[in-house]
Order: sequence, then C-alpha cells, then structure tokens
Amino acid sequence: MVIVMSEHASEDQIEKVIAALTQKGYDAHRSTGATRTVIGVVGASRTHLDPREFEILPGVHEVVKITEPYKLAGRVFKPEDTVIRMGDLAIGGRDIVMMAGPCAVESEKQLDIIAASVSRYGARILRGGAFKPRTSPYAFQGLGEEGLRHLRKVADRYGLLVITEVMDTSQVDLVAEYADILQVGARNMQNFTLLKELGKQRKSVMLKRGMSATIQEWLLSAEYIMAGGNRSVIFCERGIRTFENYTRNTMDISAIPIIKKLSHLPIVADPSHGTGLRDKVIPMARAAVAAGADGIMVEVHHEPEAALSDGPQSIYPEQFAELMAQLRIIAPAIGRTI
Ligand code: PEP
Ligand code: MN
Repeated sequence: MVIVMSEHASEDQIEKVIAALTQKGYDAHRSTGATRTVIGVVGASRTHLDPREFEILPGVHEVVKITEPYKLAGRVFKPEDTVIRMGDLAIGGRDIVMMAGPCAVESEKQLDIIAASVSRYGARILRGGAFKPRTSPYAFQGLGEEGLRHLRKVADRYGLLVITEVMDTSQVDLVAEYADILQVGARNMQNFTLLKELGKQRKSVMLKRGMSATIQEWLLSAEYIMAGGNRSVIFCERGIRTFENYTRNTMDISAIPIIKKLSHLPIVADPSHGTGLRDKVIPMARAAVAAGADGIMVEVHHEPEAALSDGPQSIYPEQFAELMAQLRIIAPAIGRTI
C-alpha cells in the first residue's frame, strides 16, 4: 500500500500517518518528491490494514494498493527516476555513464595502461575484478586485496571511480574500503545473505541480472538491498541463458525499457558478458544506449590475447574510442548526453 499525501500536507500530518502505520507494526518508507510526499507501507504485520482508515486522515490525498511485491524498487512508490550521485558523477540522469576496464585486475601496470586509455576516451568508472567468480576452480581467481589496492591507486591517478565485485559477505567491508560501487555478479543475484548485508552498506550497489533470472526475481533482489536501507541500487543487464549457443549469453535488450517502466532505479548494460564475442560488443552497446540504458559497462584490454580472463570478449582500447564516438551520435537522438 502507498499513501499519497496532498500537496499541502503539513509535517505534522505526515508524521501522524507514519505513527499510525508504525503502531500497526508496519515500516513506513517516506519519499519526498518535488510536489508531494509519498509514504510506502512495507513489511508484514498481523494487523490487517484497511485503506479507508488512512484515506480519512488529514492531509492524505489517496491510498493506492500496490500489487507488485517490489515496493521500494517499483515506480508506483517512487514515480520519478532515481539519480545516484557520486561526486560530480550522476548515474540515472541525462548523462550516459561509461564503465570500462579489464575483466580481472592482473597487475598495476596492466590496469594503468587500460585506465589511461579509457579515461582519455571518456570512461568515468574503472571496472576490474579482484575477486573473480570463475566456473573452474583452476582458473585465475583474482588478486584479492592486492587487486583492490591497484584499482584504487590507478583510478585515483586518472580521476576515475571504482566498481568491483564482492562475492561473499565476508568481503563486503574490505571491498567497500576500496570501491565506490559494489558489484553483485550474476551468480550471486539471489544470494540473499549477501544482498541483506549490502542493504546495510552506504556504498552504491550494481546488481547484475542472474543468468536465468526473470525480471520480477531481479526486481525482488533489488528490493532485498533496499529493504535493508540502501537505496542506491543500479541494475545491470548482462545477458541471460537461452537455447541459443552462438553467443555466450543472449543479451536481453528488451529488459532495459521494461526495467525503466517498472522501476525508478538506473540500469546499465554489459554487452561484454551479454555476448561473449568481441565483435558483437559494440553493436550491442549501441543498441542498449538506443533502448534507454543509463550506462554501459565494457571489458577493455590492451592485450586481450594474453588476458587472464575473458580475453575473447574484451575490446581493444581503440575500439572503446570508436564506441564512444558512435555513442556521441546516438545519445542526442534520444535526448541524452555522453
Ligand atoms: C564481471 O563483470 O566481471 C562478471 C563476472 O560478470 P557476471 O557476473 O555478469 O558474469
Ligand atoms: Mn569478465
């Protein structure tokens, strides 16, 4: 249930509504928009809520029953877009944000070469895994904390922000010490213990779509983080598993306008994991921006043949430059900047 206050509702009237909800055992999530305050009712209580009891309270404009189970992530509760601000960077606003870097941090030198070029071409966020979720236990597992140190140092050198994956609850505090955005990988989208832990964090979280997750399941995973108190969640479409095996995954471009309609949160697209093929990354990045993505995450490597992970889907720095030039033409056509 959502209680929409009238435009001129007083602070006292708003507080009385919240108090009435709390008294019945519900959590009230207050959202103050440009013109009015909306109070979202979340949580479970044994006391039945009768909308009419709230409709008659002073200052209440209307009471809307929400049928979607994702109240905090959904647009009904918060109709206006969420813009996540970090310094002078905004994700979910007019500007399309580029996140680029290697699949895995391999050394400070490797990261420096890649960061130097992607920042020159217009990336604002440096990506790179220090903890890698690999299908085989014998594959490179990442440099761990050493990788996090390289990320922070190199990103600061080029004025970039850091996004990196956190795989487990035991790593949350450590990763949060170094990163600006905590990435939840596809394999962990429904690791509810991890999501709850991230709900207690104040750092933004980028939630990748599980490879066999429906959009509703994905929204509910975001709800887990938000219900814990962290409202800075970014979705990332990274391809799903279908019967098609020509590509590593099937990039679900339609998920972008669907999420935009159902949720106020920003959505980024990752065409590197979405296709697994270097020559398909740029076309899918273009399509994602045209479909309304708020940002693009791509894997870039100066020597993909020698990369310790995901070389075949990593684009060369010059290709990143080419992609940026193309996106600068596409973005204005849909009222965006880059
Ligand atoms: C990654 O971005 O490094 C990664 C492992 O992606 P995903 O979780 O989408 O497979
Ligand atoms: Mn990768």
